[in-house]
Amino acid sequence: MLSNNMIEALSKQVTNEFYSGYFYLAIASFFEKEALPGFANWMRVQAQEEASHAMIIYNYICEHGHQVKLGAISAPPIEFYSTLDAFKKTLEHEKNVTKSIYNLMDLAVNEKDYATQRFLDWFITEQLEEENSVNMILSRLERFKDHNQAIFFLDNELKTRSFSLPPQLAKKL
Ligand code: MG
Repeated sequence: MLSNNMIEALSKQVTNEFYSGYFYLAIASFFEKEALPGFANWMRVQAQEEASHAMIIYNYICEHGHQVKLGAISAPPIEFYSTLDAFKKTLEHEKNVTKSIYNLMDLAVNEKDYATQRFLDWFITEQLEEENSVNMILSRLERFKDHNQAIFFLDNELKTRSFSLPPQLAKKL
């Protein structure tokens, strides 16, 4: 059983995660236009991951016998000025997501909602990984500057990323 506050907050996070997916689709399309298919692939996989995060939270609310309160998904930014700019915006976005997960954890702790605290642990680890992988790409881009050959090699590397269903969803979808 979840409190009304918790249902509201988790539902909002479902919408936030779908927004994240939308945000990454916007960037993927920028990279498609820039003829950087590897970067576009990385962003497409990111978008799939975000939709899967939304569904994990959605399922969690349903499993407790509650109805998910889906909200409106805002339009993502569409102006990206460079590969570096897109990744700077990505890092900024992920830091905000981390904050929103921490806020949920604060609420779960305040409410002594131990089940939700355990549920959110996975997201906290996930955010650490997200920030690390974005940071790594960003610091390489900062080092490469406008070195086209290096960007080309990185593009090839990012082509290899593929989506795998998180274990929580493997039995559900
Ligand atoms: Mg996410």
